[in-house]
Amino acid sequence: MITIDGSMGEGGGQVLRSSLSLSAITGESIRIHNIRANRKRPGLMRQHLTACLATQEICNGDVTGAEVGSDEISLRPGNVRAGAYRFSVGTAGSTSLVLQTVLPILLQADGPSTVVISGGTHNPSSPPFDFLDACYFPALRAIGHKVTARLNSYGFYPAGGGEIEIDIEPAAETTAFVLEDRGEEMSRSLEAVLSNLPGNIAERELDNAGPALDVPEDNRHIRSRGSAGPGNVLFARLKFENVTALLTQFGERNVSAEQVANRLSKSVKTLLASNAAVTEHLADQLLLPMVLAKGGSFSTLSPSFHTKTNVEVISKFVDCQVGFTEANGAYQCDVNV
Ligand code: ATP
Repeated sequence: MITIDGSMGEGGGQVLRSSLSLSAITGESIRIHNIRANRKRPGLMRQHLTACLATQEICNGDVTGAEVGSDEISLRPGNVRAGAYRFSVGTAGSTSLVLQTVLPILLQADGPSTVVISGGTHNPSSPPFDFLDACYFPALRAIGHKVTARLNSYGFYPAGGGEIEIDIEPAAETTAFVLEDRGEEMSRSLEAVLSNLPGNIAERELDNAGPALDVPEDNRHIRSRGSAGPGNVLFARLKFENVTALLTQFGERNVSAEQVANRLSKSVKTLLASNAAVTEHLADQLLLPMVLAKGGSFSTLSPSFHTKTNVEVISKFVDCQVGFTEANGAYQCDVNV
């Protein structure tokens, strides 16, 4: 039994998610207390509860404490089963963070799986589906796994009501993930996605971010999408020779379209001013799949508190070394297993 203090490091949901995945994969029972102790509303929210119950189902385990608000759970895992799964968050809670929990488990299963998850598909502070599709899944494919996905319907936070569907075929043999040089930039585009909101929001976002980032007019796109509630997100897609980066800024109430554009432009410029191949968010999400495969190395931005916390959690289950060294306008992350 491994005991995890959920307040460790950043003390957020990642401590729970990575612990659930690794418990199911290693077969180690866990008890997690102080769940999300450093968050405004600590304990299990619907997204985390769904991740717990989904893990329990996939690994045939026994769970205690799995209720909304709970600050302690335990999981005694059984055997992981590949299969066809369907999970519903029940609110606009993030489908991608539920997927972030179950996907590493199903990548270790002995056959293909299909997972359908309903809830939020475009939530602030979570990977939007487009990011999974453009950045996360290609990285998993580079390790050797076959992962393809569909966005069946949009679900912007706070209304939710979206659905994602993922086909997973674990690699027969994995390879190390190596991405040190992003290569030359090949193209740069902007996409403003709107649902149930006036079109001028997207126009203003593009009118500001376009010139600020030197994006040619032909590469500035507005996409109107139907969903249960209002929503707006602005994406910058940077295609380099060896990798695609997708940076995101969500529209928010009381935040002007110009501010949204400025925030996105700032994060794009930070990436461009570095030599990093892997963005801050992809870095924390890649660690677990890399540790469970053959490790590897990549260049990235300065490791976030989130990433450092994830390294600490992973080290409690798996014998591995993850190090960051500053070099050549970026940080080099080495993962040795
Ligand atoms: P909780 O709110 O459940 O406590 P948490 O504290 O772990 O969760 P965050 O620190 O916000 O939540 O991170 C959740 C995950 O979402 C991380 O893996 C992070 O990299 C990812 N993420 C957040 N924003 C983005 C984004 N814009 N693009 C891609 N991934 C993102």
